Amino acid sequence: MAHVKLHIPGPVEVSDKTFEAFRSPMIGHRGQGFKDLYAKMQPQLQTLLSTRQLVYLSTSSAWGVMEGALRNLVSKKVLCCMCGAFSDKWLDVAKRCGKQAEALQADWGSPIRAEDVDKKLATGEFDALTLIHNETSTGVMSPLSQIAALKDKYPDVMFIVDAVSSMTAVPLDFDAMRIDVLLAGTQKAFALPPGLTVFTCSPAALSKAASAKDRGYYFDFVEFEKNARDHMTPSTPSISHIYALSSKLDDFFAEGLDARYARHRKLAQMTRDWAARHGFNLFPEKDYESVTLTCISNGARPGGRVVDVAKLQKLVKDQGFLIDGGYGKIKGTTFRLSNMGDETEATMNQLYAALDNAMKQL
Ligand SMILES: *Cc1c(COP(=O)(O)O)cnc(C)c1O
Repeated sequence: MAHVKLHIPGPVEVSDKTFEAFRSPMIGHRGQGFKDLYAKMQPQLQTLLSTRQLVYLSTSSAWGVMEGALRNLVSKKVLCCMCGAFSDKWLDVAKRCGKQAEALQADWGSPIRAEDVDKKLATGEFDALTLIHNETSTGVMSPLSQIAALKDKYPDVMFIVDAVSSMTAVPLDFDAMRIDVLLAGTQKAFALPPGLTVFTCSPAALSKAASAKDRGYYFDFVEFEKNARDHMTPSTPSISHIYALSSKLDDFFAEGLDARYARHRKLAQMTRDWAARHGFNLFPEKDYESVTLTCISNGARPGGRVVDVAKLQKLVKDQGFLIDGGYGKIKGTTFRLSNMGDETEATMNQLYAALDNAMKQL
């Protein structure tokens, strides 16, 4: 069957070069070969996240570490900052882990605002918060550095941040933000196959984790730290992913991180321009649009064009591209186009041409 190229916001298209690295011959995860592989990547990962902390590799999708962070770091009550399907879900996950949890709910399409977080934290009830930097379901990027600045006022609150669909596409300055956990699954902007999560923890998070009862083993942050010091992971990792990540990091630094960030900004703007040319409105509140995907309103916002999304998807798929028809409660009233990973102006123009073609038939 012919491959349909992914322009959904994760998983995204994986290059042949990455797959070649992925299928490297297997090695033992306690041997020197593995340690050398991880040790070579560690400074690249630290540069990527602007941190002097060790960066960990978890063989799980992002939710593993998202749940793990709750188990390691919440002893009193967690504030779940919610503005879309993924961030809303974190509240449910916290409750399923038996944690006291409270919602700070923003409307879908709006960002999380620092002043609202401040008001909640001022109650003194919370020892942790969860925040999604780039809410993939709504295409909204929340002002992370403004929210992180609250750390000065609330040093004992653990700031747990999901950058699943923004890491590698925007600068993330972990140490300067002084947040406590930053994580991303690899099937989004890293453009790797799903199954690996990259994350790091502050010294405060590690010492809090050390005293957490019932933090389990597989996602024990203290184990990750201890093993990372010896260039290893607590349990047998997906070594194939780690080969692929190493190849990808070389790609990032060959392109240059600033060029990579600029490319994502440019391509997202091109997609917004495509939407405007066809009379669509965007779903996100102005100035909070994501740079890795565009969530286009198809009736979710007043005014603007409305089309049969299922038909649009089919017409585009027949030309070899998979686009997303909206997620959760905005399925159908929005649709999403991803530009994250390895996309270029040329590849995005191919997508727009297919979309233009499809629009003529609607
Ligand atoms: C995709 C996504 C997740 C979930 O990742 P899994 O790989 O399904 O665990 C979490 N958060 C955000 C922001 C995402 O985009």
